[in-house]
Amino acid sequence: MKVKNLWDKSLVILRDEINPNSFNLLFKDINPVNLDGNELTILIENSFKKDAIIKKFYDHISSAVNQSFGSNVNLKIIGKIDAESKSSFKNNKESFYKYTFNNFIVGSSNELAFAASKQIADFDESDFNPLYIYSEVGLGKTHLLLSIHKHLSRNNKNSIYISSERFTNEYIRSIKERKTDDFRKKYRNCDALLIDDIQFLSGKTQTQEGFFHTFNDLFLKSKKIIIAGDDPLKLVDLESRLISRFQSGLVVDIQPPDFETKVAIIEHKLKLLDLNISREITDYIANLCQINIRQIESIVNRLKAMVSLTNQEITIENAKSMIIGFDEIKVQNKPAPSSVIPAVSKATGVSVDEIKGKGRSENIVIARRLSCFILNKDLNLTTTASGSLLNKNHASIINGVRFIEKELKSNFNLRHNLQQVRNTLKIN
Ligand code: ADP
Ligand code: MG
Repeated sequence: MKVKNLWDKSLVILRDEINPNSFNLLFKDINPVNLDGNELTILIENSFKKDAIIKKFYDHISSAVNQSFGSNVNLKIIGKIDAESKSSFKNNKESFYKYTFNNFIVGSSNELAFAASKQIADFDESDFNPLYIYSEVGLGKTHLLLSIHKHLSRNNKNSIYISSERFTNEYIRSIKERKTDDFRKKYRNCDALLIDDIQFLSGKTQTQEGFFHTFNDLFLKSKKIIIAGDDPLKLVDLESRLISRFQSGLVVDIQPPDFETKVAIIEHKLKLLDLNISREITDYIANLCQINIRQIESIVNRLKAMVSLTNQEITIENAKSMIIGFDEIKVQNKPAPSSVIPAVSKATGVSVDEIKGKGRSENIVIARRLSCFILNKDLNLTTTASGSLLNKNHASIINGVRFIEKELKSNFNLRHNLQQVRNTLKIN
């Protein structure tokens, strides 16, 4: 049954339970907007009604929804501003125009990846193959891949862009339905294959096998292969023969943008939205967004929504009050990064100098990795920023975080230490 019908069913249940005056007043213009997994999002445009409904009837609605949808539904109620910033991400048509080379702002953090992408998009001009681009999330890999893909398609190349997750699903389906010939035909007859989020192939040996053969076939025919992933090559968890294929081409990374690039990106997004804000606010946002560019976009989208809803110019005060409480940026509740290593030292008995040093004995290494984990996961610092606090490089931070993630599943002492540090730092 359609989401809308199921929602109507929930309304019938609610009408029986709620006082008719309240029901008529509050439950008129509510619409389900999204069902993603078991999360149902409903939109209440009027923010006063939204607040009243959440306060008084959240539990009623949640139980009605669970009755009519017949499963464990997580209810999310949003207002208009949330909806606008959300829809600007979901709108595929918009993103189709958005992801182009022209809309990619180049700075020192991404110029190599940009130059390499432009070159491989010029097909016959490029002398490297494949191209592997890696970075932390939200720094522009997908943007570059889609820009290459569009450029190639416009020049009549048969280019395929696909996430490695979808690639895996298609591959498995082709085996199940005995259509591996079709699969092969599709992927081996293209001029360029762009695979996004390759880290998803980790552990999927059979798909890696399929990918390897596709890769070789394309490679021998001088077709282009472009791959994006989260990890530097030496940490990519794929068969070594695949890694060495990637190594034979060009490997470039994207670093978090510096302040000037962030400002340029913000200004570019403002222009696309036809929005004017003062330089003071732009600088404020640039300073605030330490994690990724997706954050910058959500803030700018919200500012736009705020202007169109209130018709007021944005002052630094109302920009700040809107941005605070923004769920992706929990800057307020976060302890200072410089307090992390002393807190780990206190919990583990390993000195600050030892944590930052080069010693390899087990307790020191664990304390160091725990610091990586807290800086990167709890405080959301980039691996580069975490690394500079610990005198370690990007790769060893990633290693440290991975190690702790794995170890936490079985190591009781480590869990206890982590909790102690979190208590000291008031992280919950
Ligand atoms: P990734 O694939 O690395 O996680 P995305 O390509 O999805 O990151 O980028 C996240 C968002 O930030 C996208 O909306 C993208 O358009 C935007 N973005 C990233 N880098 C830039 C840039 N240099 N200039 C303009 N927008 C960018
Ligand atoms: Mg991506």
